[in-house]
Amino acid sequence: MAVWFREEAAPGHAVEWQVRRSLFSGRSDFQTIDVLELESFGRALVLDGIMQTTTDDEFIYHEMLAHVPLLAHPAPRRVLIIGGGDGGLAREVLRHQEVRSVVMVEIDRMVVEVAKKFLPAHTAALGDLRLVIHYADGAAFLRGLAPNERFDVILVDSTDPEGNGPGNGLYTPEFYRHLRNALSPGGIFAQQTGTPFFNPEVVQRVVKSVAEFFAWAGVYWSVVPSYPGGFFTFTAGSLGSAVDAPRREATWPTVWYTGAIHRLAFSLPPYLARSVPYAVANGAPTSVNHQR
Ligand code: SAM
Repeated sequence: MAVWFREEAAPGHAVEWQVRRSLFSGRSDFQTIDVLELESFGRALVLDGIMQTTTDDEFIYHEMLAHVPLLAHPAPRRVLIIGGGDGGLAREVLRHQEVRSVVMVEIDRMVVEVAKKFLPAHTAALGDLRLVIHYADGAAFLRGLAPNERFDVILVDSTDPEGNGPGNGLYTPEFYRHLRNALSPGGIFAQQTGTPFFNPEVVQRVVKSVAEFFAWAGVYWSVVPSYPGGFFTFTAGSLGSAVDAPRREATWPTVWYTGAIHRLAFSLPPYLARSVPYAVANGAPTSVNHQR
């Protein structure tokens, strides 16, 4: 009898993957953690019953979350990753040779340990000497940051702001204020903001906050086959130049990202551009608050 993993994407809509076998099932202090070998999509990490990443399509999400902001920044040296416990985002960030230091603040040590054991391609770069991992809440880390500690690029690769999950604190106006103050001049940030078909309120809420604190704010999208609806958004904010075009090129063979896809990603379908307050799609918000 076939076994299926089922994710409720929205009321009345679920997605199922046929499971070949369960490789790990456990619970940390923060969430349930499962690693499944699927009949299609390869291996999958599932947290609190929500699909996080699969070995077959993770390259899309991680390349888009890493390379769009990093290649739009003139000279990223210090990068902060909040979340990212599966290691895939750190692997892509570390491909940028100009990046000298990556700090990854992951709340759940068990996710990293499980990923190291079952998702070796994701965690291939966790041994890079430029990377330091802190096991802490990303919001608390930003609140406690020393005044002189600044990052050129901050990437938020967390679980969705759902239920009582640990990701909730990473989608509040206070979080964006602290995040903005943790960026160096000209700094850029990007965050996964979910599937607009099922959770439009996430990208709408994030853009509203980002537009309050950043000189430039924009939404970009990608196809991510393993996420419900396959149509996924990221939100970016910049203290300097726009993020919607690369300033540099990738000097390694990418699997999804190109400069043309970078630009295309910021071309929003009208239904999404309309739903994003401040008409931020590709441009500066109408109201900006430079409070520090
Ligand atoms: N790509 C996935 C997505 O878009 O949903 C995210 C994958 S990654 C595994 C998400 C990570 O965020 C998890 O390891 C989780 O423990 C971490 N996380 C959630 N809330 C956090 C917080 N407040 N501080 C730091 N890490 C957090």
